[in-house]
Amino acid sequence: MTEREAVRTESGWLVWCSECHTRFESKRSDACYCSPTCRSRVFRREKKREETISLMKVYVDQVRGNMPRRGRSLEFEALAKLQVQIANALASVEND
Ligand SMILES: [Zn+2]
Repeated sequence: MTEREAVRTESGWLVWCSECHTRFESKRSDACYCSPTCRSRVFRREKKREETISLMKVYVDQVRGNMPRRGRSLEFEALAKLQVQIANALASVEND
């Protein structure tokens, strides 16, 4: 989504909320959220996302920890490859 530009008004700026996309007045041209509700909604979502990423990392580590050290097989190779793919996917989500 492209950010809409703030519009100068007599008393400040007319800006668009990044969360609910409604227009609101602000003293700042770089204000992001129209209300504490929108701000905390974004904050909670971010927190939940970070918690999920942390949990997934734990799962990936568990898979790694439970993989056999010996006796390589097609299953082992597939699991090792999958584990790397999940770790890479998590890293890319984290850097969004
Ligand atoms: Zn809003």
